[in-house]
Amino acid sequence: MRTCIGCRKVFEKTALIRIVQAPDGQLIPDVKAKLPGRGVYLCSRLSCIQKAVRKNILSRALRNKVPTSELTGLEEKIRDALQGKLQAFLGILRKGNRIVVGRESIRKRLKKREIHLLLLAEESSGRRTDYEQGNIPLRILFSRERLGRAVGKSPQPVIGVLDERASLELIRLVDMADRLSPGRG
Ligand SMILES: [Zn+2]
Repeated sequence: MRTCIGCRKVFEKTALIRIVQAPDGQLIPDVKAKLPGRGVYLCSRLSCIQKAVRKNILSRALRNKVPTSELTGLEEKIRDALQGKLQAFLGILRKGNRIVVGRESIRKRLKKREIHLLLLAEESSGRRTDYEQGNIPLRILFSRERLGRAVGKSPQPVIGVLDERASLELIRLVDMADRLSPGRG
């Protein structure tokens, strides 16, 4: 369990984003939770990140001055890091044949209850009712182009994830990144 330095609420470590400071002062969202050094935790609410930045809570928590240039745009940096992690994760799943593409293949696999998560491209979000069946979790992620690229394919309107545990992790990451989208908080 760790405390968000913004709202001071306690969360499970996996629900928080760890931020570390590089020797040059740069802030790095440690989305792989592997970086050494002193880390501080933020929940993925935009308001907490903004508060930590605005009140310079970050510098205090890191016990080191954070350059102003690093404070502006931290939320974008975190969102980019989460999206990068999502993209890499999808690539790994594709290599392990845990991703299904193509409407027909997806339909067949849905019928067999083999799909645990559907990821719909932003441009295809209007068609979500086509896929909302059987309580399969569905999330909107990336453009068609980026979604396809993540799984080593041409642009894709939708992909299905066959791995149940990976699906839970993907949902967690997508929801975190979503909370950081402009207009949320
Ligand atoms: Zn918080």
